[in-house]
Amino acid sequence: MSVEIIALDADDTLWHSESRFQDTQLRLSEILDRHAPHDEVQAHLHELEDRNIKLFGYGIKGFTLSMVEAAIEISQGQITAGEIHEIVMMGKAMLEMPMELLAGVVETLEILGRNYPLFLITKGDHMDQYNKIEKSGLGDHFKEIEVLLNKDVAAYRELFARHRTDPAKVMMVGNSIPSDILPVLELGGHGTYIPYHVTASFERHQSEPDHPRFRRLKTIQALPELLLKMNGG
Ligand SMILES: [Mg+2]
Repeated sequence: MSVEIIALDADDTLWHSESRFQDTQLRLSEILDRHAPHDEVQAHLHELEDRNIKLFGYGIKGFTLSMVEAAIEISQGQITAGEIHEIVMMGKAMLEMPMELLAGVVETLEILGRNYPLFLITKGDHMDQYNKIEKSGLGDHFKEIEVLLNKDVAAYRELFARHRTDPAKVMMVGNSIPSDILPVLELGGHGTYIPYHVTASFERHQSEPDHPRFRRLKTIQALPELLLKMNGG
């Protein structure tokens, strides 16, 4: 059961991300409040996001286009050019925000990096994700950085094969059960779930897996101790 490689998710595992989407969605509801109540705006936006992911992928640019589409549909074409401009500016502001790391991330990566090669495995828009990695200043901690279109079994299998890595020796750490945990468990690896206080609609999952290689931690700072226990020092 020994772990030799630690792979980490980025958004909401190393730095804050989803809380920013939720703040922007609230602002969208305010812009549209004369056309529809908050819940209706959110539900319509989520439905569009789900449908558009196939075309736009994950990330802020696609999210911004989905907000524009939702605004036009919900207002039945009554939304003004000024309001659409404001929505586009909200998306651009998200892309330009400085990174805010989660507590203990730098110290934990330093400790883990002494004993394990670290992989960063994230998904979404390449330009946005690489900008965030650059702005975070965390890039040097990682032996490998991978930005995937989607985090499913096939994508992880291809990634591990490309790096000649046995998935059984990998622990994937992240805040999404469907994206970070289930595919890696299926490939024979370990999954450690560290929930973030909010979860994107498309990353929600009914229940936590009941699996011998599944673990849940409250914070990333607990990771070195877990590995010490598992690998017997
Ligand atoms: Mg994440």
